[in-house]
Amino acid sequence: MNFKKWYADRGPKFIAQRASKLFSRYGISAQRSKTRIEDSMQTLAKFGCAPTFFTPGTVVERYPQFIQGLQKEGAEIAVHSYQHIDLSAIKPAEAVDQLMKALSVFEKFGIENHGFRGPYLGCSKELLDSIPADLFEYSSNQAIWVDGPALDSATNQTLIFDTLRRFYQPAPSSETVSNPSMRTNLLEIPVCVPDDLQLHDGLNLKSPGISQVWIEMLQQTHARGDLFNLIFHPELSSICTESFEILLEQAKLLKPAVWITRLCDINDWWKEKAGFKVDVHPNSEGLTLEFTCSARGTVLAKGFDHTYSDNLWNETYFELQDKTLTLPTNQHPFVGLDYKAPEQIVTFLREQGYIVITDHMATSCEVYIDAETLSRLGSQVNIIDYIETSSAPLIRFWKWPNGAKSAICITGDLDAMTLFDYASRLSTP
Ligand SMILES: [Zn+2]
Repeated sequence: MNFKKWYADRGPKFIAQRASKLFSRYGISAQRSKTRIEDSMQTLAKFGCAPTFFTPGTVVERYPQFIQGLQKEGAEIAVHSYQHIDLSAIKPAEAVDQLMKALSVFEKFGIENHGFRGPYLGCSKELLDSIPADLFEYSSNQAIWVDGPALDSATNQTLIFDTLRRFYQPAPSSETVSNPSMRTNLLEIPVCVPDDLQLHDGLNLKSPGISQVWIEMLQQTHARGDLFNLIFHPELSSICTESFEILLEQAKLLKPAVWITRLCDINDWWKEKAGFKVDVHPNSEGLTLEFTCSARGTVLAKGFDHTYSDNLWNETYFELQDKTLTLPTNQHPFVGLDYKAPEQIVTFLREQGYIVITDHMATSCEVYIDAETLSRLGSQVNIIDYIETSSAPLIRFWKWPNGAKSAICITGDLDAMTLFDYASRLSTP
């Protein structure tokens, strides 16, 4: 490990503040950590929630039985490098070695592998491109800053808050949606920040303040139908547990429902959804649309004259019960895009469940976005708003299974169990 760089990235004040927190939260034995991790699992289980724990290979190596037990109780264990080091600060080849070494430890101790997260969310594009195909199914490293009134009004900002924000380099939720996206070799499942360390140590918020921020993050992601991928650290789990209860109670009340799940299940679903399609059959009366999707897929429609109030999904959409729909006129309730539209936008909209047409039929679609409008809209959020505020008839697949409107995952970075685990990070070469 490059100690000089590690020191320069943090500075003496941050290191001193962080060290005093660690001394108060970790002991020489792992028992304290084990108890609070198990307590948080039990609290989450009351709401049918199991966490995803990103765990360094060294921690799995030191506490294999404990980690196996968490997996047995339903937690997903995911790779968090081998040593807890910033993978974006070392050469991609060295970072890949760290991931491979972690995987061999996972395999040795019978821990399932699906995805990884770099410590400090450190993961460069070069690293993602260097990871051999089939090593992982997903990465969860892209941070999205989801703010709301409670966060905006928290003024007690400390150095910890800003230092962590610098590490995470989040994209603002005002421009970027919090949903998975497929890269060539793996799925990226973004993570929502601020995290618990920023809220508690960075803003000095106690449990009620943390709950309020999380509830606003839940409300924003639910309103948009997005994923709330919450990140916490088991060192704070005794403080977070009360907030988990309040948050998940709220999540259970929302309609349409919030899918409470793990990242490996999100990964399975997003790949299942990628196979959904619609076939369009013109006939003498108009068009018959035939939808192909799995049993838990949801097809939504809006902007039609028909009365479908029995199947209203929310205030805008109704849910199609049949997987075929005959339209009385030659309507194309799809999203047409200029043929010059960037491929990444076409892929992005398809991943959001829209039926996107880019060929000569694009201009006959009920919602058509020309090249000039597309470039004026710019951000993901603006493009979605443009489509959703149109009153034109539109049909789409929904983003989540079984009619759920949004999703939530509780993900913990299980970085260390004892003070020794922390100290060993500094002594590694
Ligand atoms: Zn970590």
